[in-house]
Amino acid sequence: MSRGRTIGVLALQGDFERHLFRLSALGMAGREVRRKEDLTGLDGLIIPGGESTTMSELIDRFKLRDNLEKFCSVKPVWGTCAGMILLAGKVDDERVRPLKVIDVSVIRNGYGRQINSFFAEIQASLNGDRIALKASFIRAPVVSGYGPEVQVLATYRDSPVLLAQGNCLISSFHTELHDDLSLTRYFLEEFVTGVRQSR
Ligand code: GLN
Repeated sequence: MSRGRTIGVLALQGDFERHLFRLSALGMAGREVRRKEDLTGLDGLIIPGGESTTMSELIDRFKLRDNLEKFCSVKPVWGTCAGMILLAGKVDDERVRPLKVIDVSVIRNGYGRQINSFFAEIQASLNGDRIALKASFIRAPVVSGYGPEVQVLATYRDSPVLLAQGNCLISSFHTELHDDLSLTRYFLEEFVTGVRQSR
């Protein structure tokens, strides 16, 4: 699947190592991204879970914002949990300056605090197939609204939890914490090496 491609994982904070581990399990080269130079030549980017307020601040402190915005407007990008918050169009918390890559509004910690974290097996519709994903919701964001160009790929209790628009995929949950490569594989096949159209 890799054929000389490399996927970056934003490594300012959060669970970036798990994503790198899952990429390597699929034979894809990964690279930690901390400086704008690290984005050069990448074929896609994952923004991991963690703490979106901290990541938002670090993006500015590391002077990454312009380059990230440019990268995400043309290249495949997947945000999980805090990463989803950073890619959203609107966030209910003004401490987060989102990159506005996908037309989705989110509520931080909408599923509750750490103590309310839970595991669920959710059904996603990926490439026309129904696929079960192992999903951990850890202080996960709730989607409060989304635009007409956004596709909902999975819901949990009637609320969208996996969405896509153009080159951008977002999930409010973590699969990379589990022995479940399905969503990483889907991102690589459909968004990075696949046929999905550019915006
Ligand atoms: N609630 C966290 C935030 O707002 C996200 C939690 C996570 O990534 N698991 O950034």
